[in-house]
Amino acid sequence: MKVVRRIEEMRGLARRAKLKGLSIGFVPTMGALHAGHVSLIRACRKENDLAVVSVFVNPVQFGPREDFQKYPRDLKRDARICRREGVDILFCPDASSMYAASHRTFITVEGLSEVLCGIPRPSHFKGVATVVGKLLNIVLPDIVYFGQKDAQQSVVVRRMAEDLNFPVRIKVMPTVRERDGLAMSSRNLYLGREERQDASILYKALDAANQAVKRGERKASRVRNLIRGIIQKKRSVKIDYIEVVDMQELRPLDKIRNDTLIAVAARIGKTRLIDNIILKRA
Ligand code: AMP
Repeated sequence: MKVVRRIEEMRGLARRAKLKGLSIGFVPTMGALHAGHVSLIRACRKENDLAVVSVFVNPVQFGPREDFQKYPRDLKRDARICRREGVDILFCPDASSMYAASHRTFITVEGLSEVLCGIPRPSHFKGVATVVGKLLNIVLPDIVYFGQKDAQQSVVVRRMAEDLNFPVRIKVMPTVRERDGLAMSSRNLYLGREERQDASILYKALDAANQAVKRGERKASRVRNLIRGIIQKKRSVKIDYIEVVDMQELRPLDKIRNDTLIAVAARIGKTRLIDNIILKRA
C-alpha cells in the first residue's frame, strides 16, 4: 500500500491508472476507521482495480465551536486497517495543501444543506460538498462510496455530482451497527460508559417506528411522536430533531410512503449523534 500525502502525486497515480484502463474506487473518510468504514472499503476493493481511501479531517466542515481539534486521529492504526483490507493507496493530504491561504471557492448545494443537520450546522454541508468535489478532482474515481449513516451527506453529494457533471458513480452502503443497534461512528469514542449504553436508544426508537409502519401506521406525526416518546425515556439524551422526509429532496412528509427517510439527531452529554432508517411500506 502506498501512503500518499501530496496532491500532485495522488493525481499522477490516478492519471496513470486511467491511462492503463484501470478502474478507480474511492472511499473518502476522516479516519478513526471502524467497521462502518471497512464495509465501504471492502465494497471498493471488490469492485475496482485500484482502491483508494482518503483520511482527511476537513476543517471546513466543522463549525467554530465544534470538535475539529479533538476529533480522533490515529493514522498509524488507520493505515494498518487499510493495508489489511488490501487498499492500494491511502491518501492523507495536509490541510494546508488542501486549503491554501488563497482558497476562495466553495460548493453550496442549495435547499438540501439548510435542513436537518444544516440547521445547527449552517456551514457543514458547504464544507462537505467542497472537500468531496476537491477529492473527486484529485482521485478521479469511477465509483465513490458513502455510508447511509450520513444520509443527508449522501443526498447532498449525489446532487452536487449530478449538478456539476462529475463523471463518477455514487454508491451508498448500508449503516453498520454495534450489537445493540448503535450506528458505528468515530464520535462514539467520545461517549462515557453510561452514555454509550443510553446511545442505543436512537436505533431502538427508529426500529420501533419501522415496526409500527410495517403494522400499517402511515401518519408521519404519529411516527415522530412514537420515536420522541421512546428517546425521552433516557434523560441523558437530548433530541435535536426527528424528521420524516422524502429521500431525494429531504422535504417533510405528512404520510409515510415508499422510500421515506426517518432521521434523528440527539446530544448525549457533549456528543452529537445522528442515525436514520429508510422505511419501506409493508
Ligand atoms: P467519516 O469518516 O465519519 O466522515 O465517514 C466516512 C464515510 O463512512 C462516510 O461516507 C460515512 O457515511 C461512512 N460511515 C460512517 N459510519 C458508518 C457506518 N456506521 N456504516 C456505514 N458507513 C459509515
